[in-house]
Parts: sequence; C-alpha cells; structure tokens
Amino acid sequence: MSNLLELRNVSKVYQRGLISPHANIALRDMSLTLREDEPTIMTVAGESGSGKTTLAMLLLGFITPTTGEIIYRGKNIVSLTGKDRLAYRREVQAVFQDPFAVFNPFYTVDHLLTVPIKRFKLAKSKADARNRMEEALTAVGLRPEDILGRFPHQLSGGQRQRINVARALLLKPRLLIADEPVSMVDASLRANILETLRNLQRDHGVSIIYITHDLTTAYHIAKSIIVLYRGAVMEAGDVDRVIKSPQHPYTQLLVDSIPWPNLDQRWGEHPIIAREAGRADGGCPFRSRCPMAMDVCATRPPLFQVKPNQAAACYLHAEQPEIIAERLSELL
Ligand code: SF4
Repeated sequence: MSNLLELRNVSKVYQRGLISPHANIALRDMSLTLREDEPTIMTVAGESGSGKTTLAMLLLGFITPTTGEIIYRGKNIVSLTGKDRLAYRREVQAVFQDPFAVFNPFYTVDHLLTVPIKRFKLAKSKADARNRMEEALTAVGLRPEDILGRFPHQLSGGQRQRINVARALLLKPRLLIADEPVSMVDASLRANILETLRNLQRDHGVSIIYITHDLTTAYHIAKSIIVLYRGAVMEAGDVDRVIKSPQHPYTQLLVDSIPWPNLDQRWGEHPIIAREAGRADGGCPFRSRCPMAMDVCATRPPLFQVKPNQAAACYLHAEQPEIIAERLSELL
C-alpha cells in the first residue's frame, strides 16, 4: 500500500536576521502520512505563528525543509527534476486564502482558466479547452454560462473562491493544499465552499490538506486533524475525538474558545490563549502559557498515544514513570 504524501521529521528554521537575533523555528519535526488509496481531508490547525503557512509553502515546493524529507509518491520533492517536477506541480495544487489575489482584474475568467490548460498542454483544441473549463466549473457548483466571459469584479467572493477550486481541478490534482480558503469569504458562503471541497474529495478522489485557525470548519470538513503550536505538533488524530475530547492543554483551550457555547468569547480572547508566549527554549513550546506545566516540561515531550487514533505531546499522558525520570535527569 503506497503513500501519496509522507513528511518525515520535517523542520524549517529561518535564520536570524538584523531584526531578530534568534533563529525562528517555524516547523519542528513534523511527520504525517496520506495514503494513496484513501483520499481524505486532513486539517492542520493552529493560531497565527503556528507554522501552518510554512507547511503550505513546503508542500508546494516554494521553500525547502531545513531537515527531514517530504516524500511524494515515493520521491523526495526536493530532488524532483524534469517530468517528475512538472507532474508534481500539476498534481499538487493550492487554493489560497484571498480569492481576489489570483485574479487579474483586466482578464476574464476564461483567461484565468486557460493559463493552466496551456501551461500543462492539457487540451487538444479550443473546443476541448472550453469543455474542460465547463466541466471544472460545473464540478464546483457553478453554471459555466453565468461565469465564462465575465470579469472578476462582476463575481461574488464565493464565486471567485469556487473558480479558484475549479482552476485547481482542471489539472486533475491528487492533492489540494487549501490554505484558509474560507477565512476571507462571507460567513453565508463558507458552508458552500466547504461542501465543494468535500465533494472534490469524495467524487474526484482528491486528498486535501485543509489549513485553518478555525476548529469549527475543521470539525465539519475533516477526517483527521493535526494541531500545531509554534511549529510543533501538540495533538493529532481523528477530528471527532480531538475536538470532542481534546487531550492536550493547548487543544483544550482552543476548543474552549470556540464561539459556539458562548458567543461573546472569541478566538484569542481566552485568558490563557491571550497570555503572552515566552521564548521556546527546547522544552514544551506551550510551557509558558500552560496552567499545568511541571519541571519535566522543560524538556521536549514526545507524542504519547492517548487513545486509538489520538496522540498528544504532553507529559500529562506519560504513564511510564521512567520517561519522566529520564527527561528530568536531562535537566540536572
Ligand atoms: Fe503543559 Fe507540560 Fe503538557 Fe506542555 S508538556 S502542555 S507544559 S503539561
């Protein structure tokens, strides 16, 4: 059984510059696997500065890992060349946060959709290109006759974001990186776009990495979730388990701050979420904000398997006293 995507202990460090004297560890030892025969939707969730965007940039090949490997269909993406690199560029597509940014206001939607068709030589004729555009637009729930020939300013934000999804779909991707795809879209249109993504996974066999700060949309769309904090995985597992029964103090705080039980409390306003983070110095990255921090938390916790399909990087789940003793001895 082969893997579509595998991250093996991927870290990304931005070296110190004039402004900051410290190297910035944007992503630490991240591992994940997506199977080729099981298209799925995996959420990567976290607040700003958690490493979500760095992860998207790494997956799209815009930047390279400092350590670790990103393996796509058996090959390290850093060493892809020629046809393999072109195939990767075609098979791994992205939908970004801002549905306005990818549109040139002087060109019609037809032009936007023609660019990838020409670049990857997908169509045999103009008629074939037109058919492909119509198919992709229909697949994302748009009526081609309402869209083709129109300029971006004549479309709603929701329509533009679905056109972005259609643009990706034209290339018959295997993997879609959806980086906050609904955060700049009206709340009334979010469900529509999330449903479009879910249909892509179900009907077209596309695996999706859904990157978000919003656990409510993650809960509705994804099968599994990875919660990041300051570049490190705090908790990972089945989305239902993680959100209904979070096992890491950070995830518990995130779930507590979801506005559904208390409409007055918003993301980031939780007294501990809002507490200023100290420097991450090798221990648990959440230590300076964690109400349960212990001495041993000054060393980095591994991921502990808490339940089937749920793991948390927190010593509260270290049942083996020898792990605690070993880590404490590192502090002496
Ligand atoms: Fe808190 Fe320690 Fe768990 Fe980190 S490892 S979340 S500091 S209890």
